[in-house]
Amino acid sequence: MTHVPHTAFSIEFFPPKGPKGAQRLDKTMIELAALGPAFFSVTFGAGGTTRSGTLDTVERVMDTTAVAAAPHLSCIEGTRASIGELLDSYKAAGVTRIVALRGDLPEGMERPGVFQYANELVEYIKTRHGDDFHLEVAAYPEFHPQADSAADDVDNFIRKVDAGADSAMTQYFYNADAYFNFMEEITAKGVDIPVVPGIMPLDNFEQISRFSAMCGADIPRWIRQKMEGFGDDRKSVHAFGRDVVARLCEQLLAGGAPGLHFYSLNKTEPVRWLWQELGLPTPEQPQTGTR
Ligand SMILES: Cc1cc2nc3c(=O)[nH]c(=O)nc-3n(C[C@H](O)[C@H](O)[C@H](O)COP(=O)(O)OP(=O)(O)OC[C@H]3O[C@@H](n4cnc5c(N)ncnc54)[C@H](O)[C@@H]3O)c2cc1C
Repeated sequence: MTHVPHTAFSIEFFPPKGPKGAQRLDKTMIELAALGPAFFSVTFGAGGTTRSGTLDTVERVMDTTAVAAAPHLSCIEGTRASIGELLDSYKAAGVTRIVALRGDLPEGMERPGVFQYANELVEYIKTRHGDDFHLEVAAYPEFHPQADSAADDVDNFIRKVDAGADSAMTQYFYNADAYFNFMEEITAKGVDIPVVPGIMPLDNFEQISRFSAMCGADIPRWIRQKMEGFGDDRKSVHAFGRDVVARLCEQLLAGGAPGLHFYSLNKTEPVRWLWQELGLPTPEQPQTGTR
């Protein structure tokens, strides 16, 4: 089932922490809504800490903007009952798109809950809800760090497609060939759902370096060396980071990527700048850009 046509450009938020974070996110979502994204997705934290935060933020998106909201839902800790309840709440709130994930086991927790892998969650949602939700899943052009091998990871991605995923969004990466290679491989295996590259702006290089070490996203040596070479020259770090990410997006779109999913980290400016730089369509200028 497809509610949003591809090519689709979407933006991700995380549930805010505290009233100041909530105020900031309200402002960001209004500013980014003006770009006319296909949907805003809202992450789901481990440890159950943001279970209600995700639902609250989804409701906030729907109340504050005219943009569709897509909650992420991770399953590794949940029970059938708790996940079922959440799905019912999303359906009642008018949600039509869900990002179905495994998630990661919180530290100190050794055994997963009822679902061990995301394909099992996709199957559960499909069985319980049929086509009520458009289901997005995660894809890893540079492979998931816990996969036994690259080939196993591709097969495991295909399990999610076979279970009923309608489209996918990738982990971020800075090497377009990783994406094109992944697409070639899954296409050869008969996968034809849209796989939208996840784009992480490099405005805060130290922060993204830390994330990358945890999630297995590679920052190529030439980018790292250039960034480190700029030292305290924030202006150059900023300009170079923006240029690298804009050129990556251009390469991906020129190579046939069916959209882009921007990790906003709840900030307006990096995403707005990229959107404008790439000439992506906006409600005022639906036909801008070179594509
Ligand atoms: C777009 C995107 C959004 C995300 N949003 C969130 C979020 O909101 N909250 C959050 O906590 N995390 C989020 N994550 C992180 C994600 O939860 C982690 O990367 C997690 O470790 C894997 O989730 P998955 O859904 O990809 O798992 P899976 O697809 O289940 O894969 C997990 C690992 O298990 C392997 N595997 C899969 N199926 C099998 C099988 N049947 N047998 C053996 N091995 C198997 C895979 O190869 C992989 O190594 C997001 C990731 C992406 C790319």
